[in-house]
Amino acid sequence: MSAVRPTHWPISQFPVIDDCLHIGGMPLTQLAARVGQTPFYAYDRRLLDERVALLRKRLPSAIQLHYAVKANPMSAVTQHLASLVDGLDVASLGELSVALDTGMDPAEISFAGPGKRPPELTAAIAAGITINLESARELETVARLGHGLGRQPRVAVRVNPDFELKASGMKMSGGPKPFGVDAEQTPALLRRIGQLDLDFRGFHIFSGSQNLRAEALIDAHDRTFELALRLAVDAPAPVRMLNIGGGFGIPYFPGDTPLDLEPVAANLDHWLPTVKEQLPEAHVVLELGRYLVGEAGIYVVEVVDRKVSRGHTFLVTNGGLHHHLAASGNFGQVVRKNYPVVVGNRVMGNEREIVSVVGPLCTPLDILADRMELAKADVGDLIVVFQSGAYGLTASPARFLSHPACVEVLV
Ligand SMILES: *Cc1c(COP(=O)(O)O)cnc(C)c1O
Repeated sequence: MSAVRPTHWPISQFPVIDDCLHIGGMPLTQLAARVGQTPFYAYDRRLLDERVALLRKRLPSAIQLHYAVKANPMSAVTQHLASLVDGLDVASLGELSVALDTGMDPAEISFAGPGKRPPELTAAIAAGITINLESARELETVARLGHGLGRQPRVAVRVNPDFELKASGMKMSGGPKPFGVDAEQTPALLRRIGQLDLDFRGFHIFSGSQNLRAEALIDAHDRTFELALRLAVDAPAPVRMLNIGGGFGIPYFPGDTPLDLEPVAANLDHWLPTVKEQLPEAHVVLELGRYLVGEAGIYVVEVVDRKVSRGHTFLVTNGGLHHHLAASGNFGQVVRKNYPVVVGNRVMGNEREIVSVVGPLCTPLDILADRMELAKADVGDLIVVFQSGAYGLTASPARFLSHPACVEVLV
């Protein structure tokens, strides 16, 4: 056993000048003044550009990149990403509306998610986007609504594979799941699609989120391609889209290391000729959420009180789990771990101390940093939570305790 406690992977995407964090080319203190309030989220468009450029450089050029909007549906972020990627994936009518507002070609927008209701399906058919079917009932509903609208719906089948993504932060497949149609039931569903007036596009197979291990992603991609090739035998029309999901992770916690893209890219490169040969019309799509936006965002809160309780120092701030549930450790974590956190306006500081950063909510769950070493901070200082661009504000219970709303900016 190592005696060295793991530390956070260094955060190097935001420059520190004169001990102050810079984002969007300006000091954090200036940005806070510009925003006009704390707490806020800030997302850096330069980092979005760089992330997409990195993927374009590393991945085979035939791979199409989609953005999974639920990771961060802020309209300016979605609009910016829409100009960089090949398509958007949405999971609700609200997200569909954000996606359509970007001007993205509807043919490159897809809609996944269990329990899509008739008004959502109607909107999707009217817009001409691809509906990723999640059940046999949904299939019948889509065909009926399409008939009523006089439009042929574009559909793909979201398959619940017979495997699961190993070492994934959040499992989305394998075993009984509310997501997708079980692989075993898919051939019958494909035959039914062939009997109805539907434009069959292909398959969507997504097996899990927040994966930092290349081997696990490679294994999932191998099984995804194998499964898709097997299912394609029963397809009612040529497969034109093969969406292999997202799930690329980013380092959040002590001991996490960044995903090594190289072997994942090499494995995709290895598969593409086989896909081209067996499914000549298919575009392979990677739909990433977290990996595109997560590292480009920060959450900024202000210290309102500093208190010592039985020898332990607490920085009480004006933000917390109601804006950033994931950083509080209550969004899918089994054991609470700290996100990377700094005092943004005095990153190193003159003195360091071990403190806990908490929010204003009357619950012991409202923790942003538990016993972390930070620069010594006081009332008015700005605390920054890194890796906050994905599953932040919209994945948090904003109404809990009725505190003021958070704002978001793209810089
Ligand atoms: C959430 C989700 C994604 C994105 O997952 P990430 O782990 O953020 O890349 C992709 N596809 C579907 C269907 C999803 O539900």
